[in-house]
Formats: sequence, structure tokens, C-alpha cells
Amino acid sequence: MNSTSHDRLAIRGGPAVLPEGPPDWPLADDEVLAALQAAYASGDWGRYHGRNCAALAEEIARFHGVAHAALCCSGTIAVELALRGVGVGADDEVVLAGYDFPGNFRAVEAVGARVVLVDVHESNWNFDPDQLAAACGQKTKAVVVSHLHGGIVPLRGLVETARSRGLCVVEDACQCPGATVEGRRAGTWGDVGVWSFGGSKLLTAGRGGALFTDSALIQQRIKVASERGNDAFPLSELQAAVLLPQVARLDERNAMRAASVQRLLVALAKTVGVRPLVNAAGDTQPAYYKLGLKLAPEELRVVAGVSSGERADFSSAAAVRDEFLAAVRAEGVALDDGFRGFSLRGSRRCRKLGELRQSQLAAERMMLLHHPVLLSPAETIDRVAAAIARVAVAFCS
Ligand SMILES: *Cc1c(COP(=O)(O)O)cnc(C)c1O
Repeated sequence: MNSTSHDRLAIRGGPAVLPEGPPDWPLADDEVLAALQAAYASGDWGRYHGRNCAALAEEIARFHGVAHAALCCSGTIAVELALRGVGVGADDEVVLAGYDFPGNFRAVEAVGARVVLVDVHESNWNFDPDQLAAACGQKTKAVVVSHLHGGIVPLRGLVETARSRGLCVVEDACQCPGATVEGRRAGTWGDVGVWSFGGSKLLTAGRGGALFTDSALIQQRIKVASERGNDAFPLSELQAAVLLPQVARLDERNAMRAASVQRLLVALAKTVGVRPLVNAAGDTQPAYYKLGLKLAPEELRVVAGVSSGERADFSSAAAVRDEFLAAVRAEGVALDDGFRGFSLRGSRRCRKLGELRQSQLAAERMMLLHHPVLLSPAETIDRVAAAIARVAVAFCS
């Protein structure tokens, strides 16, 4: 090949497209600094009870147009409390997607229930609502639905199915606070919605979580499950203080991130080997904690001649992805792999509906762009697209 050093990928010693690398998170934020100073001045930083937690819970309920919100120490615990809130217990079954946040599987086990896995939809590699009805058995009590990586699960039909079978719905909006799902805020279609305030999330306090619900009964059960003579899984006053200004700016920042994603996907539309997650039409607007991109290794030369999609190819697809991700990261873009998914979990731990083939593909092929760069200027977004495209081109030539 006759390429100059300038054409060479960064991973092969050429210059990186974004030599400055991905932005740090959290970003500098004057309002957060002011909130920290105010929490210090008032003494709330060191109190069990101050004004911040109460104000945050009220704000989260108002934001969603629901009656109640509860705060806790993480999104993972929030999912567990949500399951307790809807009354799931020992020997019950809970339906989960075959590709999801690992902690959600553990949350079901933590309340003594058993997981039932259904496949994800091939269009966006998120929970496939059409699978729910067939997954329900005598013991099935609830379903946990996560909107992942910019994918949105259409919930109108899913909630109808759940209701007709007597199932409760826990909606995990940890990755998409403020998103719109068929005309409603993410987290408000189900019986209870969940947020995370983990250190990488769109709303961050380093750690933390929240639940919100319209049901006084669910709110009461969450309170009882949290109570051990003291609030056993608390969010602190200091955490609540830094979250309040972030919630106030959430819609504005989500809109900026969505505009960046739009620009990026237009720029990548003709890039071989890289495909967007496609959501069903409807009044839906994702929020982007991670932007999911599908690697299509069958389009890349590295596995040319190997037929796509067969079980035997999965491992090689994952190997191609690892190489692809390393090359993009060398260009200065935070592109990582996704969850491992649950499709290989044994039948001792869960019941599975079918082969979960799309879940397996998602586990092997998902690529995730981390969100901080999405608040960058358009020029940076264009370079992110250029970096991904140049790696794809290199893998094809
Ligand atoms: C991050 C995350 C959680 C859990 O949040 P933590 O605060 O990290 O415990 C749950 N579900 C999904 C989909 C997540 O992305």
C-alpha cells in the first residue's frame, strides 16, 4: 500500500483525528460549584436532613408529573427497591431483556425472584415488546424494561400486554432521564420509574439513584423496604444539592446532545460496517447516555467470506469489534463495547424464551459512544464522525 504517514490510522502510528482525546466528565459547571458552596454555608453538607433531598424528590416528581419520588444510593438499588415496591418476592418471576444492565439481573435475584429472559428487537437491540406475552407464566409478576444506548422501547403496547396479564412494569430510565417515549416522559409508562446518578451518568452525583411513581402504595412499600431503623440506602444532602441544578438544565442539555447525535448519524450514514439503532416511529425522543452503534462485521473485509449471523461467527465478530474499538479510541474517541448480555446464562439461574439470538448479537457487536463529547461544538462532532469513518474505511481496504 502506498499511504503516507498522514493517511495512517493513529493505532498504526499516524496522527489522531482528535489528539485532545475525549472530554472529561463531569464538565465544569458554575451552578454545581454554587450549590456546593451553598450546602457548605448552610451546614446541609453534614446533616441527615436538610432542604436539598426534599427539594430534589419534589423536583423529580414534578418533572415526571407523578405524585411521589424517593431517593436512594444507586440506580442498582433503585431497581431492587422498585421490584419490592411493586410487590415482587420469593418464587415470583420477572421478565428481563436478554441484553441489559447486569445489575438488573442481580436485582431480581436479590428479591428472591427468578429471571425470565426475552430477546431484544433487531432494529434497536432493546427489549422486544412482542415477546412479552409468550414469556408470561403462572408465577410471572413483573417486567423490567430498560431503554438502552439511545434505543427506546415502545411502551404503549407493552404496558397493555402487561396489564392484561396482571404484570407490574418497572421502567429503567437510568440511561435516558428526560427522554420521551411515545409522548410521555421515560419512566412514567410503568408502575414505577428509575434513575441513576452514577459518576458517568447524564445526571451525576458520583453515586445515587431515584424512583418515581404515581402509586401511594408503591411509594409506601419503597419506604418500608428502605427503613432499617434508619434510611438504609440514602442519598446525601450534598449529592442532592449538586443534582438540583443538573435536573433544571436536563432538557436543554438533552436537546444539545440529540442535535449532536443527529449530526453524527447523518455524517456516518454511508459508512460501511457501522449502523445506527433504529427506533419505532412515534412521538419518541431518546436521551443519550451512550450512543449505541451496531458493528456489521460482514460488511468489513476482515471477515469477508464468512457468512454472517451463524452462531459460529459470534466470537470472530467480537474479535473484529475489539480491534475496531481500539483503532477508534486511538483516534481520540471514547468508543467502547456494551454489556455482555444474558443469552449464555444457564437454565439454573433463569428461564429463557427461545434462543435470544439478537441479544447475543448485541453482546458481540454493540459499540457505545460515551456522552460527554455530545456537548461539544459541531466541529468536534464532525471529527468524531471522521474518526469512526476512517477506521471503517481502513478495515475495508
Ligand atoms: C447505570 C445503570 C443502572 C444502575 O445505576 P448505578 O447507579 O450505577 O447503580 C441501572 N440500569 C441501567 C440501564 C444503567 O445504565
